[in-house]
Amino acid sequence: MVRLLGEFVRCESFSYDKNGVDAFGALVAREWSSRGADVRVLKNKERGNNLRISVNATAKKRGQILVIGHLDTVYPAGTLAKTPFRVSGGRAFGPGTFDMKGGLVLALFAVDALRAANVPVHKDLVFLWTSDEEIGSDASRRTIEAEARRSDAVLVLEPSFGAAGKLKTQRKGVGSAGVVVTGKSAHAGIDPEKGVNAVHELALQIERLMRLNDRKRGITVQTTVVAGGTVSNVVPDHARAEVDIRFTRLADGAHIERKIHALRPILRSARVKITGGVNRPPLERTPAIAGLFARAQQLMKSVGLTLGEAATGGGSDGNFTAALGVPTLDGLGCVGDGAHSPHEHVIIRALPERAALLAGLLATL
Ligand SMILES: [Zn+2]
Repeated sequence: MVRLLGEFVRCESFSYDKNGVDAFGALVAREWSSRGADVRVLKNKERGNNLRISVNATAKKRGQILVIGHLDTVYPAGTLAKTPFRVSGGRAFGPGTFDMKGGLVLALFAVDALRAANVPVHKDLVFLWTSDEEIGSDASRRTIEAEARRSDAVLVLEPSFGAAGKLKTQRKGVGSAGVVVTGKSAHAGIDPEKGVNAVHELALQIERLMRLNDRKRGITVQTTVVAGGTVSNVVPDHARAEVDIRFTRLADGAHIERKIHALRPILRSARVKITGGVNRPPLERTPAIAGLFARAQQLMKSVGLTLGEAATGGGSDGNFTAALGVPTLDGLGCVGDGAHSPHEHVIIRALPERAALLAGLLATL
């Protein structure tokens, strides 16, 4: 498993680098083809291609299980040269090990194990590996949703939660907004009153945005990127900000979006333009999701292991499928830490048990 993970990680696949994602997709496709799976490349013009891999039921067919994962990473080409794939202290380090090339490795070994042990599988298994999860899934959302509608359950190979490898049975919804302020430039020392300070206006808007935070309701609104001005002695006529939005309840997402779009200028003659809004609905812990988790927990218990569940503020493509009402179990990927950072890694000892958990779900759902 580590050898294959190394091969996967060494093929860099930054979301915005179509050639890189496509090359990695081809590598993953070869692995599945060599096992006799039906592999289809779903072409995308701008983003990388998606892969749809299907493995037919080996026993009397009773429906379909969808497994989703993504080929892309947050690391631009060249990151690997700075943080190469390496194994140390029982961990495998490298860009994308945990989020989530390790998850793609688990899927291959889960199917291998089912075959080797001659375990009958009653559902068609569809593995959908997409190309743009890390940048919002605009190019693959429709494909994910269409496939989910045909499925009885969705299993998501995103990283697990914490050192104990908990599954994710609740995820916040995610949105992002842009605030663009236009003012009027003037000499900062001689006649500032002739100008309209866009940075000042933006600061006031940020203060308003902060008031939308509601910890109790699970709403966070954070201004994360700001820019403005040109040189230090000019009243700036331009400023902009990016805003990250998270919410636990679907209705709160729409409410926050309306509030942000209703922001109006505070300083005289300033202009404020708002873009963006809700991107992913929340993954809410329905009884069906709790039922899937109970099955997973039972499977782990049967081999003497414990399994917990957690809620997270991060979104995934599981948010889309859960919002359609299709039971979705997320965080089935590797145990590890440091996603999106230079110390990203997976715990090697946990790789076989996570593959076993996935195999168990594929065979018994
Ligand atoms: Zn991910």
